[in-house]
Amino acid sequence: MPDETVEPAALVPASARETIVSGGDATTTPMMAQFLATKAAHPDALVFYRMGDFYELFFDDAVKASRALDIALTKRGKHAGQDIAMCGVPVHSHEGYLARLIRSGFKVAICEQMEDPAEAKKRGAKSVVKRDVVRLITPGTLTEDSLLDARAHNYLAALAQVRGDGAGLLGLAWLDVSTGDFQTQSVAPRDLAMALARLSPGELLVPERVFEDSAMMESLESYKSVLSPLPMPRFDSDNARKRLETLFAVGTLDAFGMFSRAEVAAAGVLVDYVELTQKGKLPRLLPPSRLAQGAALEIDAATRRNLELTHTMNGEKRGSLLHTMDRTVTGAGARLLSSHVAAPLTDPSAINGRLDAVAFFVNAAPARDMLREHLSAAPDLERALSRLTLGRGGPRDLAAVRDGLTQVPRLRAAVMELAQGLLPPPAIVQEALSRLGHHDALVTRLTRALSPDLPMLARDGGFIASGYDATLDELKALRDESRKLIAGLQAKYADSSGIGILKIKHNNVIGYHIEMPAKQGEKLVDDMRGRQDATFIHRQTMANAMRFTTVELSELEDRIRSAADKALALELTLFNDLVIEVTARSIEIGTAAHAIATLDLASALATLAVEWEYVRPVVDDSTAFAIVGGRHPVVERALKAKAASFVPNTCNLETGRLWLITGPNMAGKSTFLRQNALITLMAQMGAFVPATSAHIGVVDRLFSRVGAADDLARGRSTFMVEMVETAAILNQATARSFVILDEIGRGTATFDGLSIAWATLENLHDVNKCRALFATHYHELTALAARLKELAPHTMRVKEWEGDVIFLHEVAAGAADRSYGIHVGRLAGLPPAVIARAEQVLSLLEKGEQVGTAAKLANDLPLFAARAPKPATVSPVETALKDLSPDTLTPREALDTLYRLKDLLAGAK
Ligand code: ATP
Repeated sequence: MPDETVEPAALVPASARETIVSGGDATTTPMMAQFLATKAAHPDALVFYRMGDFYELFFDDAVKASRALDIALTKRGKHAGQDIAMCGVPVHSHEGYLARLIRSGFKVAICEQMEDPAEAKKRGAKSVVKRDVVRLITPGTLTEDSLLDARAHNYLAALAQVRGDGAGLLGLAWLDVSTGDFQTQSVAPRDLAMALARLSPGELLVPERVFEDSAMMESLESYKSVLSPLPMPRFDSDNARKRLETLFAVGTLDAFGMFSRAEVAAAGVLVDYVELTQKGKLPRLLPPSRLAQGAALEIDAATRRNLELTHTMNGEKRGSLLHTMDRTVTGAGARLLSSHVAAPLTDPSAINGRLDAVAFFVNAAPARDMLREHLSAAPDLERALSRLTLGRGGPRDLAAVRDGLTQVPRLRAAVMELAQGLLPPPAIVQEALSRLGHHDALVTRLTRALSPDLPMLARDGGFIASGYDATLDELKALRDESRKLIAGLQAKYADSSGIGILKIKHNNVIGYHIEMPAKQGEKLVDDMRGRQDATFIHRQTMANAMRFTTVELSELEDRIRSAADKALALELTLFNDLVIEVTARSIEIGTAAHAIATLDLASALATLAVEWEYVRPVVDDSTAFAIVGGRHPVVERALKAKAASFVPNTCNLETGRLWLITGPNMAGKSTFLRQNALITLMAQMGAFVPATSAHIGVVDRLFSRVGAADDLARGRSTFMVEMVETAAILNQATARSFVILDEIGRGTATFDGLSIAWATLENLHDVNKCRALFATHYHELTALAARLKELAPHTMRVKEWEGDVIFLHEVAAGAADRSYGIHVGRLAGLPPAVIARAEQVLSLLEKGEQVGTAAKLANDLPLFAARAPKPATVSPVETALKDLSPDTLTPREALDTLYRLKDLLAGAK
């Protein structure tokens, strides 16, 4: 059995293909040695080992991959006396498998054949094909569209700690390999979880020793599955600084911001890791920028979850704030929106700059629509550019660059038209216009170069348009001409041999050949026997057919092959030239891509505002909070779908910084709380808001404790989660923060709960002094208003009508007198007997004024008597059921009985 095969594996039966080990003994073949060395260099990755048309996996890798991919696990020879487990995926469809493995948390090392197997053979039968890992694919370093969500960033982040640096602050750096975005931040250990929640990294590089730091591991709990530990020396800040200064060709990194040593270390680790995984190739990276402390509205993980910013509690995107707000038409625009939702601003002038841009687009509908049409024709320039700079791009990426840049003049014209008769475009729009740049020469070149139908991979050829390169055109003409000649040869041979049925065919193994049925073939062989001038040369005998060739056909084939080879080689050269031309302009193209995203986002937010009648909020440095006629953006949308309308509510904290909201269940308390938090967030990200007017003094931190579930992963009960979240608020909220708290204390015994709620309220009022909305069922808390001067009791209005309760969903000053919980129970379908009983208990409880002692209640109400005997009353239905003997009933009788039982039930009511 050969050690290497020259033929593509897919065309050769598995049994005939190379084997990586010798028969059954323990001798390691050169190829096995090569595989083991590759594996040893990449112990934490699955090695995709290229064998012809397949990537094959061996040993444990095969076991893991076959399980994750649900593909067959087979055996391939033995190593050290053990069977070698093996599985494989075809090269042409490997991306789908890769995507699944990466999503399941694996890393994959792609080990390619670095030479034609024929070359290896020339060196000797035992020679092994040169292979090398060309790329290490990890969750944070993806660039393929098929592996990425077009509308979300995929961040690779790194965390560094430098002893003696900046008061124990950690350095966090993150970049998106597919777009080049690169940022850093200093973060206090207690705020780490919050910063990570904002980024939601696809992969997080940490120093190995982090696993020994239990406090740090607590913050990293939710990110365990994406941690990639690296040895400590990689986190050396001095080396990192030099590395970054060289990479960005600056004398000092200070040119980009005052980075802490830990930030520099983290940024350096990222660059090293990208280089390592891309095997020396670096994608286009923007110089790192620094997120200054306090520049972004801080929102912890629990608040993000509770407010359903990017996903609902059920993990779905639909129904989240992001999904509801998203009107962008480009991938880059969608990614920008999601990063703005994740990190709203705190600087009023920056916020107002963004709002100016949205306002500009709100004002002119027809031109805005035209702009959006051009935007939607722009492909994802950023990601195409990244692939091209990594040497992983194909002809379609060149086309994406061409099509994206083609839109540039159109976008500019559309924006200028918008500006006609209006005020000049605001700063952000002006800046975007100039950043769009001018790319006419490149667009013309790409348009001339690329043919209309493009293959995925350059090596498939056929993507250069005719007329672009004269030599290529000649080679193609020669190739095509020769193909015509072949058709002519077929006619000639049919004529000369008298075998009209013969055909000239082609396959990858023997190339062009003449094929005819075995009968005619045998006769031809007989005829030619002994003849000097025999034209046909026998090549193969098949079951029913015979194959021949001729000198003429072979020569023609050589001409065709050489023309095709030359054409492909020339196409690849031309492709490389185009790639070089594009990557030489990568800064300009990247800048244009960002400008396109900016225009998309601002005009998308304007479209949203017009569609849903959102208004421009007033955002300033005050501590005002006056939202008039506010609505919940997501609930409003859901109600509209059901043809119902949302009742707007005003929240003006001038009447009291701390609103205590009581009211029945289902009246809309949670909705009101959330809508005010969401409107704040939308305003600070620079979007219009669902209200008639809104004035918000910037908020530094947004906190929400709304509903909770068990955190089983950390062994926390619902009540424990509630208390952890409340503790975070009380410990961290400042006078600039905005807090919403829903039903604190609900998860424990009444008196404990009430006491905790009471103390929490006092703390918010006296210590935190923040703006807050506090919803509760403890009506007793309203008494605190007499003492806490900023506490303003509010309630959700309801109307009782003909014994029924109507929720008006209106917030009004005052306190609720009842909870109407039993009414909600009835709506939810609790059995009538339970409802009746509950009403009885409630009226007794109310008569007893405050919650009386359990003993008294237990005496008055049998329900409370511990294990009280069951009431003796038996309903007629129960009696009838008891008397039934189902086994003796015919189907007909059974049906009749069912009707009778229903009648009995109706009678009982
Ligand atoms: P509970 O105390 O039981 O948690 P709640 O008072 O917090 O109830 P919500 O969950 O906010 O009530 O609202 C209940 C339902 O009422 C919502 O699902 C929504 O459909 C409707 N609703 C809430 N607010 C409004 C409003 N302003 N306009 C119209 N419908 C509303």
